[in-house]
Amino acid sequence: MKLFFKALLDLLLPSFCLSCEKPLGPSPELLFCPDCLERLHHIQSPLCPCCGRTYLVAAGGDHHCGICLATPRHFNRARALFLYEEPIKKVIHRFKYRGMTTCLPSFARVAHNLPQLAEMAGADWIVPVPLHPSRLQERGFNQALLLARALFPKDRRISSSLLVRSHPTEPQTSFNGKARRTNLKNVFAVVKPQKVAGKKILLIDDVFTTGTTVNECARVLKKCGATEVMVLTLARVKEDY
Ligand SMILES: [Zn+2]
Ligand SMILES: [Zn+2]
Repeated sequence: MKLFFKALLDLLLPSFCLSCEKPLGPSPELLFCPDCLERLHHIQSPLCPCCGRTYLVAAGGDHHCGICLATPRHFNRARALFLYEEPIKKVIHRFKYRGMTTCLPSFARVAHNLPQLAEMAGADWIVPVPLHPSRLQERGFNQALLLARALFPKDRRISSSLLVRSHPTEPQTSFNGKARRTNLKNVFAVVKPQKVAGKKILLIDDVFTTGTTVNECARVLKKCGATEVMVLTLARVKEDY
């Protein structure tokens, strides 16, 4: 009976590839067609053990990148699941700006087969990077919170009220380097510092570009006594600016 309903559901609601929108077979495990699945760039070594930047040449293994050596980061380590390139870029864009949340179960399924989640073990709190209330109202959801819930289902460590964004900011993509840091100055605040003191925090965000946003969150959390701040993002740009 269950199978009958499943077949009926497949017939009524056929599935399409999240990226190229090609129709998929019945009850696909992942909403990616074989071509897009093949092109998915999982992040793997060699990388910078701090910011997770990847290197094109395998020689030399993992080593700190120039940016992390020149200006130590406030977070302890950042990891991403995918490179921010096609076919994933388009999917993230649809998720973030068009509210296409059907991608979340597929992201979670892929993530559980990657080592990145295990590297993030031991956090006391899982904190999505907050949106300012005005942006939240405009968008209707915080993509980082939805992502945290998809990756860590029913996990009571997820808290969207520990860290808040107290000032609206222009999207970070409109700035570079120093302007990004100035744009974020004093934007984040910890609501109950006593809950953060002595704790290990895992920050969740959608895309790691230069890391300025998560670095600022980490700075504020550490100022309140957090012992470690780890960062997990869905994707990461290939090169630092
Ligand atoms: Zn496809
Ligand atoms: Zn680095």
